[in-house]
Amino acid sequence: MTSNETTNGSHQGIKDANIAIVGAGVGGLVTALHLHAHGFHNIRLFEAATKVTSLGVGINVQPHAVLILRDLGLLPALQSTGVETRELNYYDQYGNSILSEPRGKFAGYKVPQFSIHRGHLQILLLEAVKERLGEASVLLNHSLETFEHIPTKDGTEKVRLHFIQRKTGSPATLVPHLEADIAIAADGINSTIRRLLYPSEGPANFSGRILWRGCLEREPYLTGASMIWSGHANQKFIAYPIGPVTTDPATGEQTTLVNWIAELRVRDEDDPDTTPPEKPDWTVSVPKEKFASEFEKWTFGFLNVPELIGKTERVYEFPMCDRTPVSRWSFGSLTMVGDAAHPMFPIGSNGASQAILDAAALTGCLLCCEDFAGVEAALQVYERERLPATSRIVMANRGNGPDHVMQVVHERAPEGFRDVEEVISREELEGIGAGYKKVAGFEVERVNRMAGESEGVAERKGLVSPRAWMVGGGEAMVPNGVHSAAVTESEEHVVQMGGLKIGINGTGVADP
Ligand SMILES: Cc1cc2nc3c(=O)[nH]c(=O)nc-3n(C[C@H](O)[C@H](O)[C@H](O)COP(=O)(O)OP(=O)(O)OC[C@H]3O[C@@H](n4cnc5c(N)ncnc54)[C@H](O)[C@@H]3O)c2cc1C
Repeated sequence: MTSNETTNGSHQGIKDANIAIVGAGVGGLVTALHLHAHGFHNIRLFEAATKVTSLGVGINVQPHAVLILRDLGLLPALQSTGVETRELNYYDQYGNSILSEPRGKFAGYKVPQFSIHRGHLQILLLEAVKERLGEASVLLNHSLETFEHIPTKDGTEKVRLHFIQRKTGSPATLVPHLEADIAIAADGINSTIRRLLYPSEGPANFSGRILWRGCLEREPYLTGASMIWSGHANQKFIAYPIGPVTTDPATGEQTTLVNWIAELRVRDEDDPDTTPPEKPDWTVSVPKEKFASEFEKWTFGFLNVPELIGKTERVYEFPMCDRTPVSRWSFGSLTMVGDAAHPMFPIGSNGASQAILDAAALTGCLLCCEDFAGVEAALQVYERERLPATSRIVMANRGNGPDHVMQVVHERAPEGFRDVEEVISREELEGIGAGYKKVAGFEVERVNRMAGESEGVAERKGLVSPRAWMVGGGEAMVPNGVHSAAVTESEEHVVQMGGLKIGINGTGVADP
């Protein structure tokens, strides 16, 4: 029997392909949703984590990626929990304003930019997957250990995947082995599949800088939807709200969940050692004493950085790492998406967005296959479309990406300035941001053209957001904007973020 024959001998179409996605992060989940929205129905996600809890802090989804989520019917869900980012303001380390740039709809895009809690984004995607593909489509406690390519008699191939339980090392209980027609590696910056494909690649490339990140429920600052970027390449402080502004009916007091990142160079720029101090892991919680004193004097009028750090309960440490782009992602009927394919420094807020773009591109290429014999070629077309594009972003981020505006100002005026135009012209400032948007593929005209072309597609396909994530679905509103319908706070139904305990109607997210 050939790989595209059923047991009764009839030929299956490409949409019947048995697709295995390894990793249920943003990249894996959106890939599943996108394939499903285009008629693929035999899809399963294999996730190493044993349960789902809300991990991570703030993340941004840029308009070109929001457009893809809009066309999957997820805009209401994003609106229920994220913030439609209004502006991005750059400052030097003394709080002097360098540039204020409108973002998303406020910059003329037809779709917003969202600043959102990464855990919420992952949960809402997970719930959409379960609603559309079925509960059984996501298998937790299935950590990919190894794989091999299996040639079939008709000259095509399958990929045999082996899953273990990460804690014990014993075979996964439900699906210890699987032969997939198409395998997609979405297993993040520490991807096992990438390591098996590139055994000599070694650890991720450490930038010499560490990010410390936290979240605090506090009063809104500036517009209530403003991102602030301050400092320079070796010492930066970033803050942006990731939840809607809510008002306490008793006191009238307004609050919003503010995500912040303190970044410091800890290894000399000339040091040739690029081995990270720890394996990059977004879940490592550390004491604030490691970095807080370096930001003692960063008190801007509208935001007191030491206070923000001081009041935050839990702080996470992430060595800023990427990987040098490889020359191939697609090997037979296996390919990679997201951070497995192109881990990049988290500069320019593009990690999640590029994973979402991969998902759409991959689906588009597979839809061009007439039959299973075309899968290998389709995955190569996907690679040709996405690998050079994302490699350019990886390299742009090594050169500070859009944050280069702060570095230029710092080099020219290390002691601060009175008028930014004496330091850098408006044209030069705006040119840096515009250049990055072009590299990352979110120029306004391009995104708006695509938004017009696909207008109404979600409605025509009947794709709707998971009910628990829609505003006005009869649910109770909890402080950060997450809605909970008849929440019972069993252990699985509780999300812990910093000091905040939030009931969520549904499961939480992964604990890798
Ligand atoms: C826990 C966590 C917290 C994060 N927090 C932030 C944040 O606060 N801000 C930010 O900008 N970015 C954060 N990121 C990174 C961000 O999610 C990604 O850069 C981006 O969304 C691209 O997503 P991805 O799906 O490619 O990778 P990821 O989001 O990293 O997802 C990869 C998934 O694969 C799973 N996995 C790993 N190995 C295996 C294996 N062998 N078998 C099966 N499954 C496996 C992981 O458990 C994970 O769920 C975080 C990532 C993680 C995993």
